[in-house]
Amino acid sequence: MKIPAKVFSEVITHLFKKPATTAYPFEKAKLFPNYRGRIDFDSPKCIGCQICVRVCPAKAIEIPLSAHQPPAAAPAEGQPAAAAKKKFDCIMKLDHCVFCAQCVESCPKKALLMTQDFELASVNRKELRRHYK
Ligand code: SF4
Ligand code: SF4
Repeated sequence: MKIPAKVFSEVITHLFKKPATTAYPFEKAKLFPNYRGRIDFDSPKCIGCQICVRVCPAKAIEIPLSAHQPPAAAPAEGQPAAAAKKKFDCIMKLDHCVFCAQCVESCPKKALLMTQDFELASVNRKELRRHYK
């Protein structure tokens, strides 16, 4: 069988070109700086306003009151006792999240952060429900 010259030259060209694909997972994946991966939660910053819950198009996030509330600080002498700041948890359903970052952009306290963690696949659905405390 005769190989047409055009095909032959194409083969030769591609022999010396850099590959278009990478050897992931054998090599670490190269991510863009603004890559949107798993959402992380910084509990001390959260004020429980629920804006993130309302803006999430996938109903992937819940912000319940934490089961472990900080104890109220002792009042200063002659001062009324100040209420302790409430603590909130975050439940993130990774099997619902579409990584749109709407919650991160809407949070007034920057309590939600976008990470570059993308290796989230699991055969156990329970593992896709992350409870950040
Ligand atoms: S990234 Fe988008 S889909 Fe995921 S929890 Fe935030 S708002 Fe919802
Ligand atoms: S994470 Fe941000 S937007 Fe969501 S409840 Fe807490 S403070 Fe409000």
